[in-house]
Amino acid sequence: MSEHQEKTHPILTTADGVPIGRQHALTAGPRGPLLMQDVQLLEQMQHFNRERIPERVVHAKGSGAYGTFTLTHDITAYTKASIFSTVGKKTDLFIRFSTVAGERGAADAERDVRGFAIKFFTDQGNWDMVGNNTPVFFVRDPYKFANFIHTQKRDPRTNTRCMDMQWDFWSQCPESLHQVTILFSDRGIPASYRHMNGYSSHAYSFINNQNKRVWCKFHFKTNQGIKTWMDDEAERIIGKDRESHQRDLVDAIDRGDFPSWTLKVQIMTQEQAGQFRWNPFDLTKVWPHAEFPLIEVGQMELNRNPQNYHAEVEQAAFKPSSLVPGIGFSPDKMLQARLMSYADTHLHRLGVNHHQIPVNKPRCPVMNYMRDGQAATAESYGSAPNYWPNTRDRTPRPDESFVDPTWDLGQVVVDRYDSTQDHDDFTQAGDLYRMFDDAHRERLATRIAGTLSQAREEVQLRQVCHFYRADADYGRRVAAKLDIDVSQFE
Ligand code: NDP
Repeated sequence: MSEHQEKTHPILTTADGVPIGRQHALTAGPRGPLLMQDVQLLEQMQHFNRERIPERVVHAKGSGAYGTFTLTHDITAYTKASIFSTVGKKTDLFIRFSTVAGERGAADAERDVRGFAIKFFTDQGNWDMVGNNTPVFFVRDPYKFANFIHTQKRDPRTNTRCMDMQWDFWSQCPESLHQVTILFSDRGIPASYRHMNGYSSHAYSFINNQNKRVWCKFHFKTNQGIKTWMDDEAERIIGKDRESHQRDLVDAIDRGDFPSWTLKVQIMTQEQAGQFRWNPFDLTKVWPHAEFPLIEVGQMELNRNPQNYHAEVEQAAFKPSSLVPGIGFSPDKMLQARLMSYADTHLHRLGVNHHQIPVNKPRCPVMNYMRDGQAATAESYGSAPNYWPNTRDRTPRPDESFVDPTWDLGQVVVDRYDSTQDHDDFTQAGDLYRMFDDAHRERLATRIAGTLSQAREEVQLRQVCHFYRADADYGRRVAAKLDIDVSQFE
């Protein structure tokens, strides 16, 4: 090593920090064989073999960024959450956008729902808002979730996507019609992560200082404007660049063109919930704006790129169960299932101490009696006692002021209720269809027919009935493109 190199380059070391003299395999003679005592080479090979962690079953392909949330409007009438305490307050955040069905190497510009997951590092713990770019979802009963995702992934035999499998499921689950209509609409392929909205989709609760609960939904409206690709544009982009969303986000932030969103909320009182014509906790439904107007809350800006994709984006762990005082759960069955499922995934992918990974680590003190486990750093706990109750000085203890108000469930009967009974699966899908102009309706029907035509005839017929129930014109258009005679439905 020259004198110049010594001055400008740090010395290469092993994982334990031991300086390395030369990086050539240690061999008995120039032609080998290798020696077991070349522990540096063994260490490097062993580390390489363990570089990958399990990919997420859904939302495997994603992009992340750091940012800031600034509160611009007072909503303390509804919530005591510290992030919403004082107008002007700023809170750091990390966001991960994603596609849903594709694996880690999938192209970004695919027709698919997009994940929209934000971790707010509030001074009372992490609040994870784990939503999508659509306000609704395909199913309302969590039993259907894993089955639905299987239809979006690969056929067990051919290992390819299968349109028959997808439409077979949707045609037997008409509650998917609303989300299917959004997916095949012009908003089905966002031009970039910067040009789409984010929605909590679920209802949550807000709890104020008087411990009064209202229901709420979160909407993040893009300040860049909605921009989407038509199918031919997306195909051209994918042909050249599979990472178009990732590249767009990194480049925008690198050049100082920081993307931003306006956070708005919808509020529903307990009384309104009792009178609402749909189940307000049904994930396949929106709350119409005219009845539950959007209330402006603040601005979210993304202003810093991660420096190491694996450490910061691949290991980012969001879970809807991460709520803070002032923001609570709702009875939404899909939300209730996700409370377990996301945390469980992180235990599987990252381990029991995933909260200690820097990108996930709360920025406020963490005080509890959970200890040890794989990869524990013990940074927060040190020599503090590991049991409760204890009578030691200055040890963490619960504080009654953080107890949530009780839930009055009234007279309820525990049962396995059929989520397909007594539900209106068609009105809101029809409302969306009726918002589209003629050219948009034509594009929607063409896209649907393009994939539905690959399903069995029995599946096509069943699905066309659903379009027809949402709006007769919707049904007729798709049927015409599939050469199906709709007079049988009329
Ligand atoms: P509004 O006319 O008040 O709102 C319509 C909403 O639809 C707007 O938020 C608009 O977003 C959004 N939108 C426009 N095109 C599409 C599309 N291709 N895919 C998804 N969303 C789109 O009506 P309502 O509140 O009564 O809702 C009517 C329908 O609008 C619903 O059935 C639902 O499908 C859709 N919608 C409703 C939302 C809600 O929370 N109420 C949220 C999003 C969609 P933008 O303002 O950004 O253009």
